[in-house]
Amino acid sequence: MRIKSILAAILSGPILFTGFSQQQRSEEVMAKIRAEGFQNSQIMAMLGELSDVYGQRLTGSREYLAAANWISDKMKESGLQNVHFEKYCPDCRGWGIKSFNVEMIAPNYMHINAYPLAMVKSTSGTVEGEVINIRSFRDMELVKKNFAGKLQGKIVLLGSAPRQRSLTDPVSRTLTKEELEQRESKLVAERTQTPLPELLKSWETDDVRDQDFLQFVEAEGALAVLKTRSMLLGTLHPDGTYYYKTTHIKPLPYFTIMPEHFGRLLRMLDQNVTPKVRLNLETEFYHEPENNVNIIGELTGSDSKLKSEVILMGAHFDSWHAGTGATDNGANSLVLLEALRILKKIGFKPKRTIRMGLWGGEEQAFIGSVDYAREHFGELDQKPNTESTRVSAYLNLDNGAGAIRGIYLQNNEFARPVFEKIFRPLPGSAEWALTIENTLSTDHETFDHYNIPSFQFIQEPLAYSNVTHHTQLDVLEYVPEEDIMKNAVILAWTVYSLSEMDGKVPRKK
Ligand SMILES: [Zn+2]
Repeated sequence: MRIKSILAAILSGPILFTGFSQQQRSEEVMAKIRAEGFQNSQIMAMLGELSDVYGQRLTGSREYLAAANWISDKMKESGLQNVHFEKYCPDCRGWGIKSFNVEMIAPNYMHINAYPLAMVKSTSGTVEGEVINIRSFRDMELVKKNFAGKLQGKIVLLGSAPRQRSLTDPVSRTLTKEELEQRESKLVAERTQTPLPELLKSWETDDVRDQDFLQFVEAEGALAVLKTRSMLLGTLHPDGTYYYKTTHIKPLPYFTIMPEHFGRLLRMLDQNVTPKVRLNLETEFYHEPENNVNIIGELTGSDSKLKSEVILMGAHFDSWHAGTGATDNGANSLVLLEALRILKKIGFKPKRTIRMGLWGGEEQAFIGSVDYAREHFGELDQKPNTESTRVSAYLNLDNGAGAIRGIYLQNNEFARPVFEKIFRPLPGSAEWALTIENTLSTDHETFDHYNIPSFQFIQEPLAYSNVTHHTQLDVLEYVPEEDIMKNAVILAWTVYSLSEMDGKVPRKK
């Protein structure tokens, strides 16, 4: 962010604190936040426990609930008030892996680096079969024509050769000054945001797009399906089955395998050599609706007039199942908790209520945040209720574990002066971007639908999109401790400032 002009500063003046004593108080609070956040940080220790001990937190799973119980205890220990669960998605089912193995056994031996996709069935013991390639299921009529009667006892290799990622591309990267300036200088949001009901509707269809294919190959007697994803070589990316409801099908054993192994199997077929694969998979399905909870806690407001107003912040707590969800989104879940822990520890009593929500089901279809919003702010197709008007702003974190470098204004120009003023005292913020751009695909879209000023922070990309995002490498090693400590301090300062502001954050319409 850069400060535009003195005029802009004057115009934005009355929104926040004014006067010398207020300024002095703010400086004192900033120093206390920094001291607690940097010298007494708890965040990495907590994230280590969450990711290493509790592990993956797939929506609907027992592991999700165990981790939710753990973090709600941490929230209580940190002095948060009104810590509780709120249920969502009564028909989301649970699923887990007990054991699996995938190997090529002919023409010679290779252990295949694989991971099962979520919500798939077990094999009946160890099975083996020849590999057969089906390039695409886009045209199911063609698939049926070409493969009917040919799949009995086969292992289907689904897809064509994965796009080769450049071996010289950096694994991890940070935003350049030019990129940040370019984002800041945008005058209008270029990315269009689909209205939430339409978006959710489109996902319902999208989520089951491979259903016909999976049912066909299973009915034809195929034993399993193997696919891959063009990502950094060596990574496994097993998201992409969304059969998470009790009413959904249970697909046959379905794995993602690493690009190199997929490439080798496919190249052998092209050379008229048919590899043989042996595999086993043991999974379990269960339906325990008590696992489906959002986790809520707050620092209750202290001003008799303002405490009914809320600064809401959120992060999704669920993860995919191959890694431990350290970068997506364990780190940010703990940034929220650490920010409130810091504010509580320094004795800050907010005027407005500062509430955190850890949502489940984001990876499926924002299910947790949508159910929370429907419960509190009204149905999606109705006018937002009075409770929604009391929420001054919603802040979301879901872009990995890199340092914060600004904020997406989500097409709300009126919020720009608020954040310019809040960020100004933060070291290094002169280079941050306040961009009018919309960012998509996470829970702030839920709250934006209710016309609550909703924002997601810009974070350093690091290795998020090409290594850790939904992969088996979403683990603690990819979380820079200093970055998440800084993020907690930034968030603590931001919600402190929002809770003390003279008015609420302006709405966009
Ligand atoms: Zn995420």
